[in-house]
Amino acid sequence: MCGIFGVFNAEHAERYAFYGIYALQHRGQESVGIAVSDFESIKLIRKAGLVLEAIRKEDLNGFFGYSAIAHVRYSTAGDPGATNSQPLLGETSLGKVAVVHNGNLVNYLSLRKELEDKGKRFFYTSDTELFLTLLEEGEFIPEGVELHPLDRELLPKVFYVLSRVRGAYSLLYLFKDKMLAIRDPMGFRPLLMGRIKDTFLFASESCAFDILQAELWREIKPGEVLVVDKQGIRSYFPFKSNKKAMCIFELVYFSKPESFVFDNWVYRVRKRMGELLAYEDQVSADIVVPVPDSGLVPAIGYSQAKGLPLELGLIRNHYVGRSFIEPTQELRDIKVLMKLNSNRAVLEGKRVVVIDDSLVRGTTSKKIVGMLKRAGAKEIHMRIVSPPVVGPCYFGIDTPTRDELIANRMNLEDIRSFIGADSLKYLSLEGLRSAVENPQDFCDACFSNLYPLEVEDTALRIR
Ligand code: AMP
Repeated sequence: MCGIFGVFNAEHAERYAFYGIYALQHRGQESVGIAVSDFESIKLIRKAGLVLEAIRKEDLNGFFGYSAIAHVRYSTAGDPGATNSQPLLGETSLGKVAVVHNGNLVNYLSLRKELEDKGKRFFYTSDTELFLTLLEEGEFIPEGVELHPLDRELLPKVFYVLSRVRGAYSLLYLFKDKMLAIRDPMGFRPLLMGRIKDTFLFASESCAFDILQAELWREIKPGEVLVVDKQGIRSYFPFKSNKKAMCIFELVYFSKPESFVFDNWVYRVRKRMGELLAYEDQVSADIVVPVPDSGLVPAIGYSQAKGLPLELGLIRNHYVGRSFIEPTQELRDIKVLMKLNSNRAVLEGKRVVVIDDSLVRGTTSKKIVGMLKRAGAKEIHMRIVSPPVVGPCYFGIDTPTRDELIANRMNLEDIRSFIGADSLKYLSLEGLRSAVENPQDFCDACFSNLYPLEVEDTALRIR
């Protein structure tokens, strides 16, 4: 999972990139990078850590440009360290090019092997490198695609790349004098376009436009290749797919609640998830307590639909990262306690409905139930506003292997007893599907095991 951001035609594009990618920090905390072009050449910064800590004001001095792309990384493929951080920069026959990618290719290993057998060298272990390597490997113009004279040199190479890769990719290419915004034909990952007068912006989520007071223009469509240069914007659809597979987990957990992605306002979908669970639920309780932050919006929906008061029985400490991100179980356990504390003032003697967005390994819920009990809650009814996670993701979300997913190892009653709650209930798959505007266009394989694409390279996943 990653966040990407791009800006074209701005005085001090590096600063737009800095603030834009900062607004996408929730999509990746391992590393951050910015590539900037002054229309003559491309420069790059890449650092491990959070945007505000990693990139200092001094780093941006002397890093001036008119266009830029940026990335925050949360590794799903390849080693997690700073070596694989993006943008990746390549030297091609078209000059320097930088690329940022959100998603995961499902045929990386076989393509890499094919290219290595031909003598190509790879410098990274991330699938994103293919978007540079393949640029030099061929040309392709799909039937019926008319190229604008300005695009006749570059686009056949880009279309060749896209004809070879399979999987999930929302992508920005930065050339010294142009930018390309691309979304895979099934549209797994989001990518939107914004603008401020004649400055064009691209981002994984609309919240990155808000921080720059830019207007949200539209989404890049599944399968779209958009070229921006000083002459204007040109849009192509080289490869069509009858099926879309936008990631429903973006709406459940990943995107920020104030964002607009996949034709949906995240806040509305999340609130509806809570309402739908309330309609499916018979429990008697005194208060509704959200697990912050991702349980907050659905808990509002649940409490309003049930007519039960919403209380902040869990308080978040804002100075730590997300609990899932730590590599070992022990570290993840401590991080839950660092992140959340119980609030005895509202919990003591109460029958509590606890609302969380998803249950993956079950670790978080177990800690939370323990915490609420110690703070005097009389009954704890854990409510999850999405169905059990049963399928690993091969398209860019870091979910554990099939065996690590608690719902594949235990039945509902055993999970309830493992987390120590008095009752446990999930939102049904039908419920979740009905919470979004256009359910047929979504991938919900993590909840349904219905994969929209065949996956070749399962060995690629690192966790
Ligand atoms: P657990 O059940 O302990 O594995 O953790 C589940 C919690 O982690 C959920 O309540 C989410 O808030 C969060 N979460 C779920 N999926 C992810 C993910 N792919 N990356 C980071 N956090 C996640």
